[in-house]
Amino acid sequence: MIITRLKPIEEILTMLEKFPASTICVVGCSICARKIQTGGEAQVTSLVARLSSHGLDMLDGKMVKHACSAKSWDEFIEENPTLEKAGILLVLSCGAGVSFMGRISGKPVLPGLDTTSIGGSLADNTIEGLCSMCGECDVGIYAGLCPKSGCPKSQVNGPCGGSNDGDCEVEGRKCIWVTIFETLESRGMLELLDDIKPPVCHDRRL
Ligand code: SF4
Ligand code: SF4
Repeated sequence: MIITRLKPIEEILTMLEKFPASTICVVGCSICARKIQTGGEAQVTSLVARLSSHGLDMLDGKMVKHACSAKSWDEFIEENPTLEKAGILLVLSCGAGVSFMGRISGKPVLPGLDTTSIGGSLADNTIEGLCSMCGECDVGIYAGLCPKSGCPKSQVNGPCGGSNDGDCEVEGRKCIWVTIFETLESRGMLELLDDIKPPVCHDRRL
């Protein structure tokens, strides 16, 4: 699941100011963004109302099945002929969905969400920051607990030294390195941490 959060309304308004005044259609995505309630029907309706209250020309909000799928896009335009009137699509999906629509729609496409990581869900809870797509997955040596995405400093060779009583100095929750150490220790596999790893190579993301 791709983790997203709604941009502040001020940022969305500033973004819109850079484009000529036009009819705007807010489009939600029925997969991840809907599941974590950043781009479902309720968020689309709410954003349309907020932007209308700022005097912007809005179409009714719409939901696409998968923002990142050409098949969904074809169905979407077939089912929503009023979309033709939209001069701007403001998309509540992950960055992949926004970029995909930017390529396929032939219209200016703006992001309404910020994409932060790949996560998961446990019962009704969303778990953020499980993966940041580094392009060189070695999470097995960290007991399956990725420090590149679970640590705000992406420390790959142990904690940064700023943790306080086992809590992260940046985020005020348990330092992921404490959990990695405890888990590997309980499995008798601490030697997996013996080798010094090079810093994360950001080129591998490309
Ligand atoms: S090591 Fe890289 S690919 Fe693997 S979970 Fe962590 S960020 Fe994701
Ligand atoms: S305290 Fe732990 S989780 Fe927080 S930045 Fe330092 S190493 Fe990373």
